[in-house]
Amino acid sequence: MRRKFVAGNWKLNTTLESAQSLAREVASAVAASSPSVDVAVCPPFPYLYPVKQVLAGSPVELGGQNAYHEKSGAFTGETSLEMLLDVGCQWVILGHSERRQFFGETDASINRKIAAAIDRGIGVIFCIGELLEDRQSGNTESVLTTQLQGGLAGFTSAQVAQLVIAYEPVWAIGTGVTASPDQAEAAHAFIRNWLASRFDAQLAAGLRIQYGGSVKPENAKEILSKPNVDGALVGGASLKSDQFLGIINAAAELAR
Ligand code: PEP
Repeated sequence: MRRKFVAGNWKLNTTLESAQSLAREVASAVAASSPSVDVAVCPPFPYLYPVKQVLAGSPVELGGQNAYHEKSGAFTGETSLEMLLDVGCQWVILGHSERRQFFGETDASINRKIAAAIDRGIGVIFCIGELLEDRQSGNTESVLTTQLQGGLAGFTSAQVAQLVIAYEPVWAIGTGVTASPDQAEAAHAFIRNWLASRFDAQLAAGLRIQYGGSVKPENAKEILSKPNVDGALVGGASLKSDQFLGIINAAAELAR
């Protein structure tokens, strides 16, 4: 049975004070209800360590929103996986569509980052998803295949087992338009079948696939109840503790 995993991607939001108070609210509610789901928050880099202090002793895990594949050196402005581990991260988001769209990340550069993350032993949330025009032209599956092939090139199933995949249709991110539960389920089932044929059935059956794209407390239960949807990567709604906790609770009810 795959344990559901709800992660909050805070993107370029919060201040030191609001990041810590948001983390405090999430941590205390999660500690009080001990839900049978995994929960992580991914603040901006400068707030990782202060948020980690707030999360101390709570089951809520910490993730970075990106990282560079090199360990150290003359790479101005970059953050290494070692640094994320050093400040207490268990997770890193790699391949987010905003990194692909605004910062020129490619399947090849994402592949290098995933390889480094697997090597360092940090959990990876590997994001893939199609643009609106891809969906409208019937190319969703071929786009997902290209991103999976490129991002996971050269890995064994034991290495891929360290990942969580986030299916995030780009047209649903931050738009308020969510994929229908059936659209999400179809994409997740496609990804799982691809993993079974490229790697093996055991890996495919055990790997968690989150859905991301305008998840809110109001739509979470319907999407998360689909058999191949194992959690959510949440952007906007993770910035309000009541909304994020509503999504966690929806996942927790299904896990009971
Ligand atoms: C995201 O950025 O990963 C995301 C899913 O954002 P939102 O929930 O705001 O659509």
